[in-house]
Amino acid sequence: MIYRIYKYKGGELPYELVTRRGMKNVRIRVVSKNGNVYPSVSCPNQYPLGKVEKVIGDNLPIILATMENFRTAAEQKPQPPPVEITDGMKLRLFGKVLTAAIADNFPEGDYPLEKDGLLFFRRNMDYIATLNRYLAVEGRRIFGGYFEKYLAAAKYKGVKPTLSLRVMKSRWGHCKHYPDGRLEIMLNMALAGVPVELAEYVAAHEVAHLFVHNHSDEFYRFGETLYKDFKKTDRLLNKGYTTDMWASVSRF
Ligand SMILES: [Zn+2]
Repeated sequence: MIYRIYKYKGGELPYELVTRRGMKNVRIRVVSKNGNVYPSVSCPNQYPLGKVEKVIGDNLPIILATMENFRTAAEQKPQPPPVEITDGMKLRLFGKVLTAAIADNFPEGDYPLEKDGLLFFRRNMDYIATLNRYLAVEGRRIFGGYFEKYLAAAKYKGVKPTLSLRVMKSRWGHCKHYPDGRLEIMLNMALAGVPVELAEYVAAHEVAHLFVHNHSDEFYRFGETLYKDFKKTDRLLNKGYTTDMWASVSRF
């Protein structure tokens, strides 16, 4: 297997070249391996390189488009909770990509953010605890913001619910009514790992439950008035992500 670079006007495209006996034509497929997306080109033995690159050139727009689709799909994959933190690893949380940096000296603050990075203190070692503090504080800020937005949009005048972030196995959110009249809205911390608009949808969903308790047509009709494509987003979320993907993280 050889790695080559195909040069074209406007860029360079690294590709993998595989020669195969018995092949008649050049075959190109886009592969995604270890986070890299590239075209893998197979051709017959002794095939002239000029001819190979002519095929690449002829198919360049579709190759580049396919690579872009692969990258987008990889970005939209749910981010599971990291079990260990390593220097330089990418954490995709709340729709942002943060680079973990392990610092030798303790930085200021609880979960210091530096530019696009999340700092962990080497001597502290309990990286996951640092991460959990970050999730708890940011989750409260971001999801809390969505709640206020939809409570206001729905002109909700009832008992104000408290918001709690939990690791839940089987649901994204839950609206709990206590016998003494208190209300608690629980959100699954796994929402930190899904695209932000889907997390925002869950906030709208739970606010809609303050008005309609079940999942009737009336509920979805009301939901649509709060959040565009309410029902469609519900399907998107439940098709693409599972609620228990963060079940291995227990501390918040
Ligand atoms: Zn519901």
